[in-house]
Amino acid sequence: MGGGDRIIKRPTAKEYQRLKRKNGLVDKTQEFKEWREANPEAYKAQQLANYAEKKGEIKKQPCEICKSEIAYKHHPDYSKPLEVVWLCPSCHKKLHLGILIK
Ligand SMILES: [Zn+2]
Ligand SMILES: [Zn+2]
Repeated sequence: MGGGDRIIKRPTAKEYQRLKRKNGLVDKTQEFKEWREANPEAYKAQQLANYAEKKGEIKKQPCEICKSEIAYKHHPDYSKPLEVVWLCPSCHKKLHLGILIK
């Protein structure tokens, strides 16, 4: 067999960057870096919470609002890093937007 099915076009560096941007990878990394620098308290709280979760001190739970299985840790108070609320991305966003509007 001639291996005719092995023609895989490799993306050029430029195409690769565009692909990354399209998938939001470039912007997310940059966004996260900016967020981390602007919110050192929040970042620290997240790091501590992630560590506690690894040690089993915090147990993963479904979203507290809609019970979605995909939930992430939200900190109502960054000075209490181990007090977390589990929220799915959409409820989390709504909550933060709600706080911002208030
Ligand atoms: Zn939810
Ligand atoms: Zn949050």
